[in-house]
Amino acid sequence: MKEFEIGIIGGGIIGCAIARELSRYSEKTAIFEKFADVGAGTTKGNGGFIHAGYDPLPGTLKAKLNARGCLMYPELARQLSFPYKKTGCMVVGFDDNDLAHIRQLYERGRENGVPDLEIISGDRIFELEPEANREIKYALYSPNSAVTDPYKTAIAFAENAVDNGVELFRNCEITDIQRDGSGFLLQTPEDSYKVQYVINAAGIYADDVSRMAGSEDFHIICKHGDLIIFDKNSEVKMSMSLFPTPTSTTKGIALGTKIAGNPSLGSTSVIREKGDLDTYKEGVEQLLAGAVRLVPNIKKCKIIRAFAGERAVVENNNNDFYIRPSEKVPGIFHVAGIQSPGVASAPSIAEYVVEMLKKSGVHLTKKDQFLAVRRERKLFAEMTDEERERAIAENPAYGRIVCRCEMVTEGDIVDAIHSVVGATTVGGVKRRTRAGMGRCQSGFCQHRVIEILARELGIDPCQVCYENEGSNLLIRKLKGEGIS
Ligand SMILES: Cc1cc2nc3c(=O)[nH]c(=O)nc-3n(C[C@H](O)[C@H](O)[C@H](O)COP(=O)(O)OP(=O)(O)OC[C@H]3O[C@@H](n4cnc5c(N)ncnc54)[C@H](O)[C@@H]3O)c2cc1C
Repeated sequence: MKEFEIGIIGGGIIGCAIARELSRYSEKTAIFEKFADVGAGTTKGNGGFIHAGYDPLPGTLKAKLNARGCLMYPELARQLSFPYKKTGCMVVGFDDNDLAHIRQLYERGRENGVPDLEIISGDRIFELEPEANREIKYALYSPNSAVTDPYKTAIAFAENAVDNGVELFRNCEITDIQRDGSGFLLQTPEDSYKVQYVINAAGIYADDVSRMAGSEDFHIICKHGDLIIFDKNSEVKMSMSLFPTPTSTTKGIALGTKIAGNPSLGSTSVIREKGDLDTYKEGVEQLLAGAVRLVPNIKKCKIIRAFAGERAVVENNNNDFYIRPSEKVPGIFHVAGIQSPGVASAPSIAEYVVEMLKKSGVHLTKKDQFLAVRRERKLFAEMTDEERERAIAENPAYGRIVCRCEMVTEGDIVDAIHSVVGATTVGGVKRRTRAGMGRCQSGFCQHRVIEILARELGIDPCQVCYENEGSNLLIRKLKGEGIS
C-alpha cells in the first residue's frame, strides 16, 4: 500500500496550489482527484477574473486571502508559465446611488489592503475602456485586476508540484476515510492509501468528504452560474473587465476579455441542485441584458459558447471561505466553501494552509532543492514566424494544423498529451492547447484530436473520452481500418 504524509483530496485549483506549496517541503504528498484531469471541476467553469480584493467584507478570510492572492499572481505566472493578463477593471456607476456603492467599495478595498484603487469619472472612463456605455458616469478603477485561464493555472501548479515530487492520482475517487493508527486509510474503488494528514479540497463535495471521515457536518450549497463566450473576431474588443455595482449576493454580470481575446460574460448566481451544470435560457437572457448596459455594442457579437459552473458555499459561514483544522477529527484539514474569488485567492490560500498545518503541529522540513520554475513549450499559435519555422524543421507535426480556428498543430497536441500532467481526454487537450475553443467549437477538429489521443496513448479510438469515464465519443467501427 502506498503511504504519504499528506493526502490532498481534490485536484482543482485549490488542491493543486496547496500541493505546489507543500512541494517545497520533504514530506511525501499526494493529490487524489476523481476526474480524469486536474482543474476539471469548478475550476474549468468560471469567469477567470483575478479580482483585486475590494469586494469581500473586511475582516473575513476572503478579504485577506483575495487581496494577497491577486498581488501574488504576476510573479507566479512568470515562474509557472500560465496565462495572466493585467487588464485592470472598473466597477461602473450610472447615478449617485451607484456612486455611493463605489465609494463603499473603495473604502472596503483600502481596509482590505488593496493598492492603487481610484474613483474616476467622465472621459477617463472611456479612455480606459472605449467600448463602455457613454451613460456611465463614475467608476472604481482597479489597475491590478487581471484575467487568467484557471484550468491552465491549476495544471501549472500540478505540474510544478509533480516536478517537485508530489504524486498525482487521477481517476481516483476517495470513497471512504477510516482512522488507521495515527493516520488515515483513504479508500478508492480499486486501492487503499495510508496518509498521516488529509487536506479536504474537494470543492462542492467537501461536505461529503468531511462526513466520510466522521468530521464536521457542514453543508455546501451550490450557487450555479451561467457564463458566455463570444467570438474573438467580434467587433467589440474589450481592453478590461467591467462590473456593475454589486448586490449583497453577487458581484453582478461582468463583461471582460479572455486571455485569447474573446469577450466573455459572467455570471448569474442561482441556488441549484449539486451537480447541475446545465445552462439556463433565463440565465443567458439575464447575462445579455446585463452586458448591453455595460457595452451596448455587445449586441453585435456572436456567442460561440454558453457554459455553467457551481460555487461551493458553506451554509451559515458568513459567506466566507471555510478553512480550518477539524475539531472532531484531528489530522483532517478543511479547505472548503471556496466560492468566488477562489481563483484569485488560490496562491494565498495555499500559503495559509501550509501555515495552518505548521501551527497544528504538522512537521514540515524545507527542501534544499525546490524547482520554482516550470518550463512549458510555447504553443504554435503563440510563436513568432522564426520560431514556427524552426519548430516545423525540428518536427513536421508542427506544420500540420489540426484546429483551424485556434491554429493548433498536431505537434501542440502531442506535447499536451506527453507533458508532466498530460492530457488523456479531448477536454484535456482542449484546455491545454485551445483545440476546439474557437468559432466552430471543435466541429472540424474533434475527430483528429480523438485519432491523435488514441495513437499517442496506444488505445482504441472508441476508448477516448470527452472528459470522465463513460463520456466516450465513438461507439464502434463502421467499416475498414480507419477511424470509427
Ligand atoms: C460561475 C462561476 C464564476 C466564477 N468566477 C470566478 C472568478 O471570476 N474569479 C475567481 O477568483 N473565482 C471565480 N469563481 C470561483 C472559482 O471558480 C472557485 O473558487 C474555484 O474554482 C474553486 O476551486 P476548488 O479547487 O475548490 O474546486 P474544484 O475545481 O471543483 O476542485 C475540487 C476537485 O475535487 C474533486 N473531488 C471531489 N470529491 C472528490 C473525492 N471524493 N475524491 C477525489 N476527488 C474529489 C473534484 O473532482 C474536483 O476536481 C467562480 C465560480 C463560478 C461557479
